[in-house]
Amino acid sequence: MLANFERLDQRRLEAMNREYAHDGDDILEDLSQSMSRGTDGSERISDRYEIITQFVFGGVALKPHPSLDPKRSFTFEERLILYRRAEGKCQLSCNGKVCGREIEFEDSVVDHITPHSRGGVTTLENGRLAHRSCNISRGVRDDFDPGTECCLLKQAAAEKQEAHV
Ligand SMILES: [Zn+2]
Repeated sequence: MLANFERLDQRRLEAMNREYAHDGDDILEDLSQSMSRGTDGSERISDRYEIITQFVFGGVALKPHPSLDPKRSFTFEERLILYRRAEGKCQLSCNGKVCGREIEFEDSVVDHITPHSRGGVTTLENGRLAHRSCNISRGVRDDFDPGTECCLLKQAAAEKQEAHV
């Protein structure tokens, strides 16, 4: 069982190095994401648990989660539509607080409202515009709180101001 786990992690690292370009790598990307998003949070633990048990007990063949949308990224056109719909403002929220700051189109990403790894579909209805930095902040910490000292938003704003000086 430990050997299986080591092989899984080896495969995860290989997939990461090729930027999850092969068929079937998406499940390994989900695993990487669930690992990088911290160790607390019961949903993340259950994500990891599901993926790991599927590998360790289900043999070597990794099968994508049957309920996951095979389309995991939003297209350029979809991002453009959501950018217009959001009037170029970040829609990411946490603890009831919305970022709401303006975004350059180049700095924008589309975030799944219901995360892809939890069965969220890649449709306009499940998409919202976000700063790349906000999305990363939220991705790496459970206590993401737009507008507080602990979030990367302020850092990004400060960097932007410095760049203008
Ligand atoms: Zn933002």
